[in-house]
Amino acid sequence: MKYDYLIVGAGLFGAVFAAEMRKKGKTCLVIDRREHIAGNIYTQDVAGIQVHKYGAHIFHTSDKRVWDYIQQYAEFNHYINSPVAIYGDELYNMPFNMNTFNKLWGVKTPAQAKAKIAEQIAELQIGEPKNLEEQALSLVGPDVYARLIKGYTEKQWGRDCKDLPAFIIKRLPLRFVYDNNYFTDPYQGIPKGGYTRIVEKLLEGIPVRLGISYRDFLKANEAKGEEADSFAKVLYTGMIDEYFEYCFGELQYRSLRFEEELIAGCDNYQGNAVVNYTERQVPYTRIIEHKHFEFGTQPDTVITREYPVEWKRGDEPYYPVNDERNNALYAKYAQLAAGEQHILFGGRLGQYRYYDMDKVIAAALDMAAAETKTA
Ligand code: UDP
Repeated sequence: MKYDYLIVGAGLFGAVFAAEMRKKGKTCLVIDRREHIAGNIYTQDVAGIQVHKYGAHIFHTSDKRVWDYIQQYAEFNHYINSPVAIYGDELYNMPFNMNTFNKLWGVKTPAQAKAKIAEQIAELQIGEPKNLEEQALSLVGPDVYARLIKGYTEKQWGRDCKDLPAFIIKRLPLRFVYDNNYFTDPYQGIPKGGYTRIVEKLLEGIPVRLGISYRDFLKANEAKGEEADSFAKVLYTGMIDEYFEYCFGELQYRSLRFEEELIAGCDNYQGNAVVNYTERQVPYTRIIEHKHFEFGTQPDTVITREYPVEWKRGDEPYYPVNDERNNALYAKYAQLAAGEQHILFGGRLGQYRYYDMDKVIAAALDMAAAETKTA
């Protein structure tokens, strides 16, 4: 069969792109090397609880276009992310706000909190922050940094905070009100029924082949000779360096190991969906209790401990490590990609970008719109 697009990767980027192109009358075939659709937003029902199999995904956006778009595919609940962080015997509210400062220093007013932070920062004499450590210190001072940032960040990224880019920490808000809402976006929630349903709906009417890698698919297709399927274009949402057979060397990624546990007879393990463990000695960064994303009342619970690990070939890549060295290497791959007429690269891995879900959707919509113009 002749298709307009072969889409490699049935994750959010690939699925949104496929759905949009289908609306424009284009034909797509989607393949994925995993045995299921939905990539890393895959959720699965375990004991009546939607479990985020590849780490917690909380939908949040400031982009009305994206919010309106995703509403067509799911109804969202009113979940608001308010993680807590455990350091030693103490528990702190996240993100950094008046509750956190009150617990740390006993301060009660914003003026007292600001004065405390200013006093701590003044001693440091940091100019323009050059790395994550300097950025964090100049924002919140050494107390917060030592308890809530340094350990978590160094185990999450496997690198010293001095060797990490400052932008990572800018994801974390700092505010002087008693507000534990992690995100500042006006739209937030968890899709009722799970994320996999969204991707199922996006891919409705589009053929999908699972459990096959791009290379194996190409080989098998070629072997069909005259019967082979043909594609005008390919959208590749896997790792861009892998696509080019690592010709300039490997990009770095962080991977994760998930330890999932069904605890029968326990209806509430930790009282919150997300509990961060910010001490360096605790090997995991957080424990997720999935039922709290959906206000679940089941008699049992499912928790997942998240252990960050360095990525090596064969592992699942979760986070691009967007430091200077990797970004420069990515730029070389991107240049190579720009020279390929019939191949598009999209998503966290195809574009080597620390994208959130809303940014993935926006980028996929933009790419689909650009394709329609040129097609
Ligand atoms: N972070 C931290 N302490 C925390 C939570 C996050 O220092 O308790 C830092 C850490 O560097 C992390 C970054 O903030 O990589 C972004 O965290 P976020 O929760 O947004 O990351 P994600 O959910 O994408 O893993």
